[in-house]
Amino acid sequence: MGRGYTGKILWVDLSLGEIRDEAIDDRVYEACLGGMGLGAHFLYQRIPAGADPLGPDNVLGFLPGLLTGTGSLFTGRWMVVGKSPLTGGWGDANCGGMFSAAIKRCGYDGIFVRGVSPQPVYLYVTHSKAELRDAADLWGQDAVETEAILVARCRRKKRPQVACIGPAGENRSLIAGVCTDRGRLAARSGLGAVMGAKRLKALVLAGSRRIEPHDRENMHRLSRRCNRWAQFQIPFVSGPVMATLGAWMRRLPLQTAMDGLLFKFMLSKWGTTSMNQMSVEMGDSPIKNWKGSNEDFGPRRSAAVNADVFKACEVVKYHCTSCPIGCGGICRTEGRFQETHKPEYETVLALGGLCLNEDPASIFYLNELLNRAGMDSISAGATVAFAIECFEKGLITLEDTGGLELAWGNAACVVALVEKMVRREGIGDLLADGTRVAARKIGRDAMHYAMQAGGQELPMHDGRNDPGYALHYAVEPSPGRHTVGSQMYYEMYRLWKRVPDLPKPSMVYRKSTKYLADEVKAVCSAACSKYLNVLNGAGVCLFGAFLGTDRIPVFEWLNAATGWHRTPEDYLEAGARIQTLRQAFNVKHGVEPRRNFPPDRTQGLPALHRGANRRRAVDLEQMARDYWRQFGWDETSGKPLPETLERLERETA
Ligand code: SF4
Repeated sequence: MGRGYTGKILWVDLSLGEIRDEAIDDRVYEACLGGMGLGAHFLYQRIPAGADPLGPDNVLGFLPGLLTGTGSLFTGRWMVVGKSPLTGGWGDANCGGMFSAAIKRCGYDGIFVRGVSPQPVYLYVTHSKAELRDAADLWGQDAVETEAILVARCRRKKRPQVACIGPAGENRSLIAGVCTDRGRLAARSGLGAVMGAKRLKALVLAGSRRIEPHDRENMHRLSRRCNRWAQFQIPFVSGPVMATLGAWMRRLPLQTAMDGLLFKFMLSKWGTTSMNQMSVEMGDSPIKNWKGSNEDFGPRRSAAVNADVFKACEVVKYHCTSCPIGCGGICRTEGRFQETHKPEYETVLALGGLCLNEDPASIFYLNELLNRAGMDSISAGATVAFAIECFEKGLITLEDTGGLELAWGNAACVVALVEKMVRREGIGDLLADGTRVAARKIGRDAMHYAMQAGGQELPMHDGRNDPGYALHYAVEPSPGRHTVGSQMYYEMYRLWKRVPDLPKPSMVYRKSTKYLADEVKAVCSAACSKYLNVLNGAGVCLFGAFLGTDRIPVFEWLNAATGWHRTPEDYLEAGARIQTLRQAFNVKHGVEPRRNFPPDRTQGLPALHRGANRRRAVDLEQMARDYWRQFGWDETSGKPLPETLERLERETA
């Protein structure tokens, strides 16, 4: 009878050319689950304090979830973890596709890589062997080309799965990610640069081992029930109606709690682009480097990025492993690239509204260019917006840009800047490491215009609209992330359905109450962080989790897969443990949590005078204090208290 996990990891030392299996004690899984928790367990122990993120002591982990391949649904997500060269602290990035199950089919719950190879290599793994192979001829190829070459070279009966870097990772751009599935990026934290510094071009996985859950029958019973919710559909409206809905949400003084079923309908039909125009209208999407509003990117302009624009180009939909929704798609495009993955909401708005760019053709093109380069589109768009504002303020000049006029709403300028960043050419070399590094080099007050938290560019959700985002951007061990929590996420997770002690939000409430910092909100935010660590430990897609815990049985699946008999409270406790491990990692590496707070502008200091978020400000200081207390961390510094660390050591020893 199985237990859902394989009980071992693959450990690779590129400096020594050594590869070995390492058995993992059951207690490690019980304490930290799999996925990100397993990564936190090893990285905290094995990366020495102060290690150079681009040096040999940094360790990169590639991790499937504990539930991946067990017959559960939505569990095809994988993670790459390491010390981030972008933030200097804990780094992680999450991606879907087919790669997660491929790790487990090789018989591992994680592949960890340390050291630096003397020459470019790729790691080839099956269920019976693992070896390093020469990748000199692949160095310089983009990620899509690299994958095609390696698939052709290594194909046996089945197509192998590939994770690789493109030129951005090779050039050690601090906003580089790791690419799978012909252009899907584990984008955040700059971990592609770590792979490039290690001269590890790719991982090629070609195993065929089967994963056995403890109770397969129960797994399937639970999955069938979940699938009924995933398939539930309503006849739905057109793209423009989404903009109208956003405008209504902006005008009403009241807000209704969000049910994730609505998001699921939107996701099934359009993918994340369903949010595009609605988010602009309701004030969720930051505009013009966070200093503008929906009025600067009004319905006539934002119509250019309406969900239907992207849907019209979609030629095929696709699913990640074990996903019943399938929010992905391939779009036919014109110009240099014939096709590209359907751009995500984050990509469209970072390269669109944030720069006031209303040219979808440029967004399609840059989407593919960035995917192939292996560069984070959120950070790229945010860095372009930063550069335009610096140019506007005279902090960079025509001389710096090589004669390129930087202006809001100029698609050609956005394209030219991103192309230069990908090539590290001219001004692009300055910008290729993101806003914080560029602002330090530019000097004067350039840092005021760098919309980042702890060095990581902020995503396309405005904390002045939902203060939960503002909090999580600031306090997460990997700052500047939108995939953890917000007030809306808490409503959609529906954790109170499984953990009755957690607060149940009102169905309808006054918007003004969102801005009051209080203990109840802190409990909800901490619950979001804990739950997200469970999801990332299990390999569950965030969008699946939005169905709510009464519809997606994450806790029950974990018990059925492993044979454990644990309560939802026990799992959230494991989530809290992982959060403290990641924060302890940061403290070990000299990160001051308070310094991860994003700039005042993003908190409404001063408040905007017009648009959806006018007169709104976030009390981040009080919210952070309340949040840190929930984890047994010092409420002033954000560092885990000695007694919290002692408990952590006991529980993870
Ligand atoms: S909802 Fe989308 S991202 Fe999530 S698992 Fe399904 S296809 Fe992948």
